[in-house]
Amino acid sequence: MPEDLIEGLRRFRRDKFPRYREHYERLTAEGQHPSTLFIGCSDSRVVPELLTGADPGQLFIIRNMGAFVPPYDPALGYHGTAATIEYAVLALHVSEIVVCGHSHCGAVRATYDPPNPDTPHIQRWLELGRDARVPESERGPELTEAVLRRTEQRSVTLQLKRLMTYPLVRDRVDAGALVLHGWHYFIERGEVLALDVEREAYVPIDP
Ligand SMILES: [Zn+2]
Repeated sequence: MPEDLIEGLRRFRRDKFPRYREHYERLTAEGQHPSTLFIGCSDSRVVPELLTGADPGQLFIIRNMGAFVPPYDPALGYHGTAATIEYAVLALHVSEIVVCGHSHCGAVRATYDPPNPDTPHIQRWLELGRDARVPESERGPELTEAVLRRTEQRSVTLQLKRLMTYPLVRDRVDAGALVLHGWHYFIERGEVLALDVEREAYVPIDP
């Protein structure tokens, strides 16, 4: 048993749950009505509720390697990310979707690596980030930290474009019922930059 997690469960029940008891009772009686679908990376350093201060019931969350969004696929495979997007939009009626990439993202970094045949699922999944790579003609032979930060941001923009390939997303965005946001979280300085669509740049939320 992971003792540190077990101790965490005890602390939660003893110290935190009493403060949230009424909130949880209301959420179970009335059901969840999250306002936002948050699509983030599985990276252990990305903690959406800690980052945003969201309470239980506020964020519907998808986390996967790289915060990637697969394209809309009418062929209907086992698409966990697509199914969760569908549920968030059609059943929960979220009004916002945030795609949140982050600095030092291993998945985005790995899109530059040669394919590894020992990890077929990872290789297939990384295809969803490959179009965000900065071409060598633009960056030179070195993969600098600046290039990686740029790739992370380009990846968020790419995933937002893919979200718009979902008819259910596109229809609601066009109707003004849903707004998409791109975030880039710098884990080492606790800051989030947001995509400014008109400037095609990631800028501080509180400049
Ligand atoms: Zn990551």
